[in-house]
Amino acid sequence: MIQLKNVNLSYGHTEILHNINLEISEKEIMVIIGPSGSGKSTLLRLIVGLLKPTSGEIFINGQEISKMTEDELNTVRLKMGMVFQYSALFDSMTVGENVAFGLREHTNLPEAEIIKQVRRKLRMVGLFGKENVVPGALSGGMKKRVSLARAIAVNPQILLYDEPTAGLDPIMSNKIDRLITSTRRNMGVTSVVVTHHMESAFHIADRIAMIYEGRIVEVDSAAEIKQSQNAIVQQFIHGLKSPREWVKKEVDEA
Ligand code: ADP
Repeated sequence: MIQLKNVNLSYGHTEILHNINLEISEKEIMVIIGPSGSGKSTLLRLIVGLLKPTSGEIFINGQEISKMTEDELNTVRLKMGMVFQYSALFDSMTVGENVAFGLREHTNLPEAEIIKQVRRKLRMVGLFGKENVVPGALSGGMKKRVSLARAIAVNPQILLYDEPTAGLDPIMSNKIDRLITSTRRNMGVTSVVVTHHMESAFHIADRIAMIYEGRIVEVDSAAEIKQSQNAIVQQFIHGLKSPREWVKKEVDEA
């Protein structure tokens, strides 16, 4: 469904992503982890075509997007939904108008059908009947759920989540995690989730890709990542200060 082949991205002389090779299968939940500044958001922006790679190829559903025109890209983007870190809702619109936004912009559906779809998607995220509320009156977790309802309103094949649980308490984070997995189950979407919440990553991932300084250091199932022999991976998942600390811990425990 998504394939990155030998992708490099530089800003001027600074290389941000180096030789990224990654395949994400249909209906898979791929979680991207890595320290701040390692290139995770840049990777998401490449997949939606907001950035073009300096070299390499990016395939979405078999179509190479990196050389597409803006019009061609817009057609591909209709198959993708994005849930942003800060929800990115339109504050002057109601919840219902926010969720309907993509349907009104990109389809010719009659108003009655749009209203029906909005109601259905709000029900899926547990916000049934909240159409007329304004985003300002909602909690952070509820805003995230509206953002998810807006992303799924257009029935995308791919959902990209940028730090969906950032700033949420553990109970709400858990709820969002369950929504990510139920959305995959109910809609059959392929999901790419950038997160630094390890608990969340282990909870939802089919596979986890760890990025470090612009390179993918490991891609594997959650179970394999937990057992990884890579000191950088262990340092990150245990929140240690340096890879050496993990090596020392292993030696001490042996
Ligand atoms: P992450 O999402 O893992 O925190 P990002 O993808 O946001 O990392 O950033 C990766 C690196 O790219 C960082 O060092 C950041 O400073 C740099 N970067 C991001 N956007 C730009 C830009 N527009 N110009 C130059 N450098 C950038």
